[in-house]
Order: sequence, then C-alpha cells, then structure tokens
Amino acid sequence: MEPSRSQQYRSTRGGSKGFTFEAAVLKGLADDSGLFLPHAIPALPSDWRSAWAHLSFQELAFNVLSLYISPSEIPADDLKDLVHRSYATFRDSDVTPLRHLRKKDNLYLLELFHGPTFAFKDVALQFLGNLFEYFLKRKNQGKSDADRHKITVVGATSGDTGSAAIYGLRNKEDVSVFILHPRGRVSPIQEAQMTTVLDANVHNIAVEGTFDDCQDIVKQLFGDADFNSKYNLGAINSINWARILAQIVYYFHSYFTLLRSLGLPPTSPEAERIQLRYVVPTGNFGDILAGYYAKSMGLPVSKLIVATNANDILNRFFQSGRYEKKEAPAGHEADGQLPQAADGAAAAPDGAKETLSPAMDILVSSNFERLLWYLAGEAETEGGEEGAQKAGEILAGWMNELKTNGRFAVSDKVLEAGRRDFGSERVSDEQTLETIQAFYAGEPGENPYILDPHTAVGIAAAIRTSSPETYTISLSTAHPAKFSAAVDTALKKFPGYNFDQVLPEEFKGLLEKEKRIEYVQRADISLVKEVIERLA
Ligand SMILES: *Cc1c(COP(=O)(O)O)cnc(C)c1O
Repeated sequence: MEPSRSQQYRSTRGGSKGFTFEAAVLKGLADDSGLFLPHAIPALPSDWRSAWAHLSFQELAFNVLSLYISPSEIPADDLKDLVHRSYATFRDSDVTPLRHLRKKDNLYLLELFHGPTFAFKDVALQFLGNLFEYFLKRKNQGKSDADRHKITVVGATSGDTGSAAIYGLRNKEDVSVFILHPRGRVSPIQEAQMTTVLDANVHNIAVEGTFDDCQDIVKQLFGDADFNSKYNLGAINSINWARILAQIVYYFHSYFTLLRSLGLPPTSPEAERIQLRYVVPTGNFGDILAGYYAKSMGLPVSKLIVATNANDILNRFFQSGRYEKKEAPAGHEADGQLPQAADGAAAAPDGAKETLSPAMDILVSSNFERLLWYLAGEAETEGGEEGAQKAGEILAGWMNELKTNGRFAVSDKVLEAGRRDFGSERVSDEQTLETIQAFYAGEPGENPYILDPHTAVGIAAAIRTSSPETYTISLSTAHPAKFSAAVDTALKKFPGYNFDQVLPEEFKGLLEKEKRIEYVQRADISLVKEVIERLA
C-alpha cells in the first residue's frame, strides 16, 4: 500500500519533501535545517469516538501512530510490538493516568511521569529508543560486524533530561549513547539516575566544567564532519518527529478517560458537547505541539494554554506577535540533549534565566518552528502544495531574521490564527512555590497533592484561565522527587512535611548503587573524542 499524505514528510523550510517516516526519524533535522512535518495532518476515522473509546493506551497509541506511519514501512504487527515494549516499562497500568485534582473548577491533572525516569520525556523516548533499534536491525540484517550501520548518540545535560535519553537507549543494539554532564553540578539523585545504568552501550562523561562547556563540546562534535560521519552521530533531541508523534497519544487517552470518569457514553450528546482546555508547562514546545496535532486531527479542544516560567518568549509572542530573544544571564539546559546542528538560531539554550523549573529554561523554543509553518500557511497562503512551498519560504525568512537580529514579527493575521488555538500565561518562581503550597495544604474536601515545580507552573496558569463550565486538563511533566530542592523550599514550613514522603521506592538506595562514569579533566573536545573513540 502506498503511504498516504500524512505518512510522508517534508521540511518546514522549503522544497524538500517525500521523506519516509524512517528518514525523518533517523535524520532528525532536514538538510536545510528545517524540521520534519507530515505532508498532511490526518483526519480521524468517522467512528473514532465509539471505536476508540474503550481502547487501552497501547491500542490507542497503535491507532494514532498508524495514521502517521505507513504499514509499508512498519508492518502493523511490528508497530504493535514496538508500542507494547515501549510502555511495558511504565509503572501505571493506565500509562498516563488522569487525576481529578480540584473539584470546584473541574481541574484535572494528566500524570505523565510514570515512566522509568519519572519525567514525561519517557513517553516519547522509550518509543524512540525502540524505533532506532528497529530501523537499525532492519538495515543490518545479515550483515557482518564490520558492515553494520551503527549510531552514536551524543548529548549534554545539566541533569534533567539525560536520564530519559539513557533509559530510552540502554541495551539497544547498534546504538551507543554518550551523555556529558558538568561534574559535581548535577544533583546527586540526577547523577545517580544516569550513572547507575550499567548497560555496556551507555556512557556518562563527567566534564570538569559547566553545562555550557558540555553543550559547546557536543555542538563542536556535530559540526566536525569527519567525526560525525565516522561515528554516525544520532539526534534524539526534542525536535525529532517521533517524539512529537508519541506525545499525541495521551491527549486522546485523557479525553476518553475523562468521559469514562464522568460516566458519559462517547457518542452521547453530552459527550459531544464537551470541549477541553489543555494547559501545558512549556519549554521547547514539543509537548503542547502534540496537543495542536490532536486538535487539528479532530479532538474537541477549545484552547491549548502555553504555560511558561520567566523564560517567556512564547508568552510574549502570543501577547505581541513578536518572537524575540532577550539577553539574559547565563543559565541552564532545557531538553538540551543535542544542539540543532548547523543552526545557531534554534540552538539549545545558552543564556536562559535560571528558574525553579529548569527543564523549561529556554531562550527560544525549537519546536515552535513547526507551529509557525502552519500559521504562515493558513494566514498567508491559499493552501495546497503551492501554499506549503510558500509557507516554507516565509518560515525560512523568519528564521534568518531570528538568527541575524535575534527577533522577528508576524502579521496580525498570523497572530490571530495562533490565538484561535492557543492562549498563554507566564508564571513566576514565587507563584510556582505558592501553587505547590496551596495544593499541599489542600482545601476542605480535597486531598493534599505534591506538585513538582514544572507541573505547578501549569497549574498556576490553569487556575488563572479555568472556569467551572469547562474541563481543564493540566499536564504533569515530572514527579516531585526529581526536583526536591524546589519542593523542599515550598513545603519545609509545613509541620509534618518530610521529603521521604515524596521519595518513590525506586529512588531509595539509588545513591549507594554501583556507578560507571568516565571523567574528563578539562572541557576539551579532544578529550571527549578520545573517550568516544575508545568506547563507541
Ligand atoms: C522537557 C520538560 C518540559 C518542557 O517540555 P517541552 O516539550 O520542551 O515544551 C516541562 N517539564 C519537564 C519536567 C520537562 O522535562
């Protein structure tokens, strides 16, 4: 069967199109530095409400993914197997359970942190790791060891996201992974989460230096054409299309879970009247972009609310139509697995502000480019293939302006198109702490709940924008134990609070477990290369 339009991929920045799903996933970034998008967003089958309502997470995932992956590329049984293996590592049988957080304003929390590293990135990275292995196995069928196609994944982390990548790729055939972190500058739990993974293909490199040093080294490695082609460096950062795709699933899953909890049959008039608001703690715009795909496919969503911390470039965009980097003091990582090769504009964040929600500390949002392409197409073109081409040209122009001037502005029509689907809120550290406190203290009739600081940014935004007449689902992106410092700061004043209450079983004894770390004495690319050459 020929792949449908939604099963073929193009670049956001111009002419190149007709890529397979496999090419989009393995390349990560298009040669023109654009991001991959499907030729068309698929429509849902007309009976989706009744046919999908009672499916498990895994069955739903298979149905959603099938719309974007041709069976000629991945046969149905293989895709089912990939999905089942990816979510077998989750601790909750629902994979992404929905919790009624506060009754008075119909506020729900979608818990995305039940994967192996207790952060939402597991949902996508568990799948991506298996996909890499699947594609490599197929390429390498019957090949001798010398001819095998191998991938070396290299990334830098300040602690938050390295572990999700490591757990996604551990023990995968023909993939080795090297994660650089600044020695002594990640929290002990974060360090232990990464370095106690002893699989032979996993390598943690502790660099004597800062996170920015690590990030610079990784950028240089990607820019080194000889090294890159010799080791076949792989990208699993948040612009990888497979990560967005995997995240679409939980929007559908949460919708059906909500209907079930309300006791509404999926095709009843009451159910069909429901419109959801989703609130998403946002950094690189990957998580919420998946919601945009779900909405565009036909999930009944009235608004998607972008919740930012003080790194508020997206909030400023939705207020003003200007997308503008601002000078800020040196900072932090946000999903900084890998820089985007050959593209300074969308490079990983140097110079973001440090906040209590570090995984959202970004200067520019790498996945926002995809939304901008859709907005340009809708507001500035007549659509069709010609419109798609023109959207690519407009987008490329914006990205060049961003690169050279640090900013660009869109027309009122583009901004209006964006505001139809999106709202935005900025949440300060102080409000983040207050929100953690408020939900711990609870209200009469409500159970106390401990929010992680990223999730609290979302909840603070949700409370500002929610109303009792609508159902609001706010996404919970991490378990509070991952960000103990912020949680402790918020809750230490409560008598009876003790961090051990928060600590999951899996974290207990982690600090004492056996570790494997490569130490690099200077932030020097040649020393890191030496480690990779020795171990890849
Ligand atoms: C990565 C991350 C985010 C931001 O997600 P994006 O897809 O980059 O917008 C939010 N919270 C946590 C805990 C994260 O790890």
